[in-house]
Amino acid sequence: MTDIKSMNFEELKEKLVAMGEKEFRAAQIYEWMHRKLCGGFDEMTNISIPLREKCKESFSFCTLRAVDRRESVDGTCKFLFELPDKNVIESVLMKYHHGNSVCISSQVGCRMGCAFCASTIGGLTRNLLPSEMLEQIYEITKISGERVSNIVVMGTGEPFDNYDNLIRFLEMISDVRGLNISGRNLTISTCGIVPRIKEFADGGFTANLALSLHAPNDALRQKLMPVARAYPLTEILSAMDEYYQKTGRRLTFEYSLISGVNDSAAQARELSSLIKGRNCLVNLIPVNEVKEREFKRSHAKNIENFKNILEKNRINVTIRREMGSDIDAACGQLRKSYMDKGVNRE
Ligand code: SAH
Repeated sequence: MTDIKSMNFEELKEKLVAMGEKEFRAAQIYEWMHRKLCGGFDEMTNISIPLREKCKESFSFCTLRAVDRRESVDGTCKFLFELPDKNVIESVLMKYHHGNSVCISSQVGCRMGCAFCASTIGGLTRNLLPSEMLEQIYEITKISGERVSNIVVMGTGEPFDNYDNLIRFLEMISDVRGLNISGRNLTISTCGIVPRIKEFADGGFTANLALSLHAPNDALRQKLMPVARAYPLTEILSAMDEYYQKTGRRLTFEYSLISGVNDSAAQARELSSLIKGRNCLVNLIPVNEVKEREFKRSHAKNIENFKNILEKNRINVTIRREMGSDIDAACGQLRKSYMDKGVNRE
């Protein structure tokens, strides 16, 4: 059966016409799914019952089920969603003054193997479908009763390791027939897969691109991130520059500060000279401690010092506001504790 929520409008129209239906039915059904966020064909009240039945026979209708939910004192809410095949994924709702932001997962697990990250511990199970990426936002919109204005693809998984589904997701979330979220409110975070960054630059997108940098040189980056062995920083940065030239979107570099590993004054200076001259923002993230990993977060004074050095070099810096550290909001932690419990129960 075809996954109807992963079909874009044109495909849905073609398919319905091939089934002998009028074209306008596609607009109605698409709107039910992607704007009214309905929960199934039976809620489509302006669609005849025989057509609803026909749709049930031809299409699967993806919905996610919230199986756990943790709310932090700061209002951040982490959701654990069960997929149709019973795998579980995490999504996070963050409330800011300027609106609600949702962080979605792009894969079940991850195969990138970053040393500090909990999402990659069990490896990659599978890619998420476009419908499963959309559904994380749709379910959170329904549960919270509030509009989602920003989306960051920074949850579990490497979005550029699931490229085609990611592109389809971006097209559908920014479709005027759906939630119509513009590129400037979408951010993709990548560990730096060069061919995909270039392809994305050529794709005519306007999303923000964030690179997980975490080290000021290849030697250290290779220790923290296995993907760095495939792509040196010079190639990654030139692909990022290409993205900037084609889109005009300010680049973001994410840098998780790990005590004694990448947080010295010398490393701050090295980072400054690596990225200088770019229209960019460095997002410093005190590393979230993961119980399976030995890394410790940097001391407050080292974080401040690191930031000051970058600023002296005229680099825009923010220290990520810590959100949800009381609810295992670090990548993959809630999912992992849920799965560990499942294993223990058996
Ligand atoms: N695979 C993508 C997106 C997912 S991770 C990427 O690599 O960018 C989102 C961000 O959180 C990345 O910058 C990642 O390196 C970082 N991250 C993962 N585990 C972390 C931890 N324990 N503490 C701080 N940041 C972490």
